[in-house]
Amino acid sequence: MTEYQLQTHSYQDTESLGKKLSPYLQAGDVILMNGDLGVGKTTFTRGLAQGLGIKKNVKSPTFTLIREYQEGRLPLYHMDAYRLESSPDEDLGFDEYFNGDGVTIVEWPQFIKDEVPDAHMSINIKRLESDDDRQITFKLYGDRYEKRDFGNFMDGDLK
Ligand code: ADP
Ligand code: MG
Repeated sequence: MTEYQLQTHSYQDTESLGKKLSPYLQAGDVILMNGDLGVGKTTFTRGLAQGLGIKKNVKSPTFTLIREYQEGRLPLYHMDAYRLESSPDEDLGFDEYFNGDGVTIVEWPQFIKDEVPDAHMSINIKRLESDDDRQITFKLYGDRYEKRDFGNFMDGDLK
């Protein structure tokens, strides 16, 4: 496992960070977005989608469970597993997404733990003292991610 950590100080920073990650993503990537309600998981995903060239505004898939965006450099599958807390065994065909041709981002991945591939990237967002500050921790699991060159992604520069 490889770990990186950085901080953002506004929602714009967090969006920019998502955007900055996007060029390093490949078909079949799985990103787990961890963190409390309202911490910035969807905000990060929105920036990432923009970076992939998706023009449609990313909205939380809480009620739809999965939203698909096909207009970018790679398809983006944005899942929110929150509602599966009460029905963890429900099979929504996750494999097809995880082994698919796009990037899959999952909010509340703890509710579909058994479905998630061992190799994945996990992003944890945590609130800090000040309202708009967030600590963002990236963990890479598996060669697929650990051996990838993420260029200047971790240099902390969000301009
Ligand atoms: P989640 O998907 O984790 O439930 P959202 O991304 O929908 O959270 O909402 C995050 C909220 O926190 C937004 O209202 C956003 O404006 C606010 N916010 C404040 N500071 C930050 C920050 N540094 N990063 C991300 N969001 C922030
Ligand atoms: Mg959300």
